[in-house]
Amino acid sequence: MFWRALTSISRQKGGVVLSILKLDAGGIPQCWIDTEDATRHYADDSVLWTLGDPVAIMRGGMSRLTGRQSIIELHSIIAVKGSAKINLFDVLPAITKRKLYRRDRGLCAYCGCRISENDAEAEHIIPNSRGGSYTWMNLVVSCRPCNQRKGNRTPERAGMSLLYAPYTPSLYEDMILKGRNILSDQMDFLAANLPKDSRILQDPFWV
Ligand SMILES: [Zn+2]
Repeated sequence: MFWRALTSISRQKGGVVLSILKLDAGGIPQCWIDTEDATRHYADDSVLWTLGDPVAIMRGGMSRLTGRQSIIELHSIIAVKGSAKINLFDVLPAITKRKLYRRDRGLCAYCGCRISENDAEAEHIIPNSRGGSYTWMNLVVSCRPCNQRKGNRTPERAGMSLLYAPYTPSLYEDMILKGRNILSDQMDFLAANLPKDSRILQDPFWV
């Protein structure tokens, strides 16, 4: 069946695409999906329960049984049948520059200046040439001048100390880092599973 949005999405921000948070049957976040994928889960009856407010109403064809138009109300968080084949808690979140930028709140790790996402550089704390790896624990964002000044040296050698510590995001933090236009009930759900001192809660400036 072909589904179309019946209502404008009530809390859509500035005409941008809405994301729905997909959980497994146990309530563990799996991924962000678009309204089309979410509708498919509703239509094939695989949505077990939902959280959050309705964010869109989708209109399908006429039902042969009732003679009425099929309607699906999408919620901002849906739990779908089945469990993930892999335990996402065991998987290190993939690193992207965008997520790194958000983890580090767009602040240069050495001088603390606010940098735009385009100008931010993924900086190896221990340089690549000295065996430093491309991992969450060895990367921070820095501005270009700091990156160039530090060059191929360790922070100690360069006399440049880190203003904040790198860390590996948890599954819930990773969902926030990769989310787009996160709605407040989605944010509340994810934030409830974060440590109270999570840096992401201090300044989720992209939400
Ligand atoms: Zn800097």
